[in-house]
Amino acid sequence: MTGHSNLLLIYTGGTIGMVEDPETGALHPIDFDHLQNEIPELKKFDCHITVESLKKPIDSSNMNLLVWIELLEIIETYYDRYDGIVIMHGSDTMAYTASAMSFLLENVNKPIIFTGSQLPIGKIRTDGKENLITAIEIATAKENGKPIVPEVAIYFEYSLYRGNRTTKISAENFEAFQSPNYPLLAEAGVHIKYNRFAIRKVDDKQLIARKDIVDNVASIKVFPGLRKDVFQAITNLSNLKGLILETFGSGNAPSDSWFAEEIQKLDKRGVVVLNITQCTGGSVMQGKYETGVHLEHAGVLSGGDMTFEAAITKIMYLLSCTELSFEEKKEYVGKNMRGEIS
Ligand code: ASP
Repeated sequence: MTGHSNLLLIYTGGTIGMVEDPETGALHPIDFDHLQNEIPELKKFDCHITVESLKKPIDSSNMNLLVWIELLEIIETYYDRYDGIVIMHGSDTMAYTASAMSFLLENVNKPIIFTGSQLPIGKIRTDGKENLITAIEIATAKENGKPIVPEVAIYFEYSLYRGNRTTKISAENFEAFQSPNYPLLAEAGVHIKYNRFAIRKVDDKQLIARKDIVDNVASIKVFPGLRKDVFQAITNLSNLKGLILETFGSGNAPSDSWFAEEIQKLDKRGVVVLNITQCTGGSVMQGKYETGVHLEHAGVLSGGDMTFEAAITKIMYLLSCTELSFEEKKEYVGKNMRGEIS
C-alpha cells in the first residue's frame, strides 16, 4: 500500500531523462523540472513525493566517486524523513552505483530502489514509465508497518534484483539486467509478487554513510597470452591498495611461476587481491584445479560468486574502513556483508 507514505525521488540523469540534441541527434540528460511534464502519473500516487536532483544530471557512464559522494550526502540528509527512496539512474553503471551504495551505506533498513530505462521517458514506446511507477510502488510497499524490501535494489522490466547481485547484460533489450547467482526479490505482473525468502532481514540501526571512499584499486582480466610486463604495469603502481583478478572458470589462471611470484609480492606489500570469475554464473573455487591452487598459496582471496561490480565496490569500501587491519580487510572481502556473496 502506498497510502500516507513519503517517498524521496532522486534524479541523477540517464536515458530515462534524456532528449536528443537537435543538431547531432545524440542523447543528453536534461533537468528534472523539464522532465516532470512527461510524467503526470507522479501526481496520481497516493503518497507524497519529493524530488532531489544531482547538481548536474549525468549520463551514468560519467559516474565517479565525487558523484557517489553527492548521492550519499543526499541520502544521508533525507533518509530519516522518508519511507523509501527511488533513484533514477542511467543503466550503464547502475549496477556499480547500486553495489557501491549497498556497501557505503551501513544499516540500510528502508527500500532504496534504482531504476532507469532503455528509451527516454518522452518517447512513446518508453520503458521508463512502467519502471519508475513500479519502482515507486515497491519503495513504498509496507506490511505490518514495515517496508517489504528494506535493501538496495534495482527494478527494471518487471523484475526486482538485489543491487549488488546485478549486472547489465543488454544494450538493446528492455530486459537489460540479470542477477545470475541470486533469485529475483520480486516479479511484477498484475500483482507484485515478492520473493520474501530472498529479501534481507534487517535490524533497526542508525544509517551510516561512508564517504571516504578509497579508489587506489585496479582490475586485471586474465587472457591467454597475458604478458608479464603488461601485468606489472598495473601491479607495480606504488599506491595500489586493492586488485581484482578476473580469472577463468572456477577461478583458474596461468600457472607460470612469474604469475604467482608477482601476486606474492602484492600480498607482502599489503595489497588486497581478490579472485572473481569471468563467467557470468557460478563461483570461484580456488583449488578445484591445479591452475587455481597457486593463487590460493600466493595469498589471493576467493570472491566466490560476486559480480565484478560488487567486488570492485566492496574493495573500495573495505579499504576505506581504516579501523580494520590488513588481515581483517582480507577476512571480510570474501565474507558475506550485504548479501552480495553466497
Ligand atoms: N548511457 C546511458 C546511461 O547510462 C544509458 C542508459 O541510461 O540506459 O546514462
